[in-house]
Amino acid sequence: MGKLENIPENSLKFSEQRSPVPPPLPDPLRASNKKKRSGKDGSGLRGYNLASTRATYMWDRLFDEGYRTDVTVNTDNGGSIFAHASILGMTSPVLRGMLTQAKGRGRRRTISIHGVSHDAVRVFIRFLYSACYEEDEMKEFVLHLLVLSHVFAVPQLKQICVWHLEQGFLNAENVVDIFQLALLCDAPRLSLICHRMILKNLKEISATEGWEVMKKSHPVLEKQLLESKINEDNRQKQRIKKSNERKIYLQLYEAMEALVHICRDGCRTIGPHDKEFSENQPPCNYSACKGLELLVRHFASCKLRIPGGCSHCRRMWQLLELHSRLCSDSDTCRVPLCRNFKERTVKQSKKDEMRWRILVKNILRTKRIGGSPFFSSDALTC
Ligand SMILES: [Zn+2]
Ligand SMILES: [Zn+2]
Ligand SMILES: [Zn+2]
Repeated sequence: MGKLENIPENSLKFSEQRSPVPPPLPDPLRASNKKKRSGKDGSGLRGYNLASTRATYMWDRLFDEGYRTDVTVNTDNGGSIFAHASILGMTSPVLRGMLTQAKGRGRRRTISIHGVSHDAVRVFIRFLYSACYEEDEMKEFVLHLLVLSHVFAVPQLKQICVWHLEQGFLNAENVVDIFQLALLCDAPRLSLICHRMILKNLKEISATEGWEVMKKSHPVLEKQLLESKINEDNRQKQRIKKSNERKIYLQLYEAMEALVHICRDGCRTIGPHDKEFSENQPPCNYSACKGLELLVRHFASCKLRIPGGCSHCRRMWQLLELHSRLCSDSDTCRVPLCRNFKERTVKQSKKDEMRWRILVKNILRTKRIGGSPFFSSDALTC
């Protein structure tokens, strides 16, 4: 029964969809859902597929025709399915154990699988033979098959069931039930997907019948879900806060770039005293330049130009001080007060000093500017 092994994750499709291309096969010969293995010329593929298709067909036929079966599987409502002990035992360790303990007449054994529909058990046992299933049957019995694959330890089938459930089966009405089932059946990927879906649509889902039932039968689970929603919301708030902080640091960094640019090159109407301004200036590339130009103009003419004075001036003082903190060469720098602030820094309290250092660090980190034309991490040491 090599068929049940190595079902590749990306090829969890139905037998019919995996039909080999050359040569066209007669109707009953269906390809398995096993991964194609082939040489580049396709010759290996043809031989392999033909053999694998024939083998699948044989396994399906063995199950359908029940040739020399030696096990009767009793199902709900008096149904029974005939099977081969060797195949059941080879593909499911749990069935093997059941068969060892089973009583029977002669060599024939009888086991029972109850709690799921007869047809679901039939699809399950067919899968044990050929690793094949029909799409409509999978859709109809996917939850039963998930339970069977867990109870009888058939991980390949479980993987296929989870894959199908992920493909649009989940909705607000059934997700709570499937979440609980996924936990019971030890299907971590499915639990995670359900969990995410529940948290994302908690308002809608907490009004469903499934939620009400869970609330009564598993109050601890409801509590855990509500707690994880609170945690998720907090994480979301943190993310937004971080993102806003990043924006502010980025704006400050751009203001710093524009400040150096204005003081060094001049822009539009403002710049160093030795700079001649021509009528046709090229457009400025510094996004913060325009706002800064207005601020510098205000700063130059404001009557309250003292620290702690008007809010615009206060802003300008802060920008000038921040520049000084970032500037690694005050001797050649043309930004006003760059050197004065550097000297003042020495006299600042440890607390202030620490605050500035953190700000500078965050600004530099935000821009990730190893080789920036204006500022570098060297500034942190001055
Ligand atoms: Zn400019
Ligand atoms: Zn002012
Ligand atoms: Zn400077």
